[in-house]
Amino acid sequence: MIEIKGLNVDYFGNSALENVTLNIPFGHAVGIIGPNGAGKSTFIKALLEVIKKRSGTVQFGGEEISEYKRKIAYVPQKNDIDLTFPIIVKDTVLTGTYPNLKIFRRPGKKEREQAEQCMAMVEISDLANKQISNLSGGQLQRVIIARALAQQADVFFLDEPFVGIDLVSEKIIVNLLRDLREAGKTILVVHHDLHEVEEYFDKIIILNKKLIAFGDVSDTFTTENIRSAYGSSLGNVIIRGAGGEQHD
Ligand code: ADP
Ligand code: MG
Repeated sequence: MIEIKGLNVDYFGNSALENVTLNIPFGHAVGIIGPNGAGKSTFIKALLEVIKKRSGTVQFGGEEISEYKRKIAYVPQKNDIDLTFPIIVKDTVLTGTYPNLKIFRRPGKKEREQAEQCMAMVEISDLANKQISNLSGGQLQRVIIARALAQQADVFFLDEPFVGIDLVSEKIIVNLLRDLREAGKTILVVHHDLHEVEEYFDKIIILNKKLIAFGDVSDTFTTENIRSAYGSSLGNVIIRGAGGEQHD
């Protein structure tokens, strides 16, 4: 499991996450939901030590992130990715194999085949020689995910993977995430749209600076919990499929 204890994160003295404590068991598809600015991206970044935490501890299967890093793949939110860097699709995917290479070894036939397999899994083989700057949003997201697959990780973090992509790409990614989970992988996905929550995830973390709720979708995705996270901004919107009372 991922064991998070007393996690606090600040940006220049302003607190972004307060005292978040939870244990996420491995082997689930976990949605991380909450309104804009709730600290969802911050939560992932703090877990992965992309940013510093003020206090708290995080362990992956009893290990520190420094020990466990190789088993983790991270797909950042789109605006955190540098698209100006000139690189073609297949080389981008190939870089996913680097962490598993021995020092001073260049990627060889085995790694290239692995990268090709990963491209096929998200149906981007025909884009192999394109510059990443020339891709659509959905194609690019699939490239970044293929790169994560090439890492052969056990735990996948994806930050808003469905934002700004086409329906075909979304379907391919959703099916892939399902396959990964069935293969016993752990998947954590920041997702701000509430409609597909029940379809995509089996557990959810509801955040708004603090941990509002965590658990199985069936008993955590309730109107009450969603209200406490999103506040009145949601008005009387019907949360389709959400348990608890509903309003017209
Ligand atoms: P979410 O991903 O849920 O939309 P974020 O984790 O990006 O939220 O942000 C949480 C809060 O921290 C927001 O108030 C945001 O403005 C602030 N924040 C995020 N990144 C930075 C940063 N690099 N510097 C200063 N404040 C930041
Ligand atoms: Mg975010």
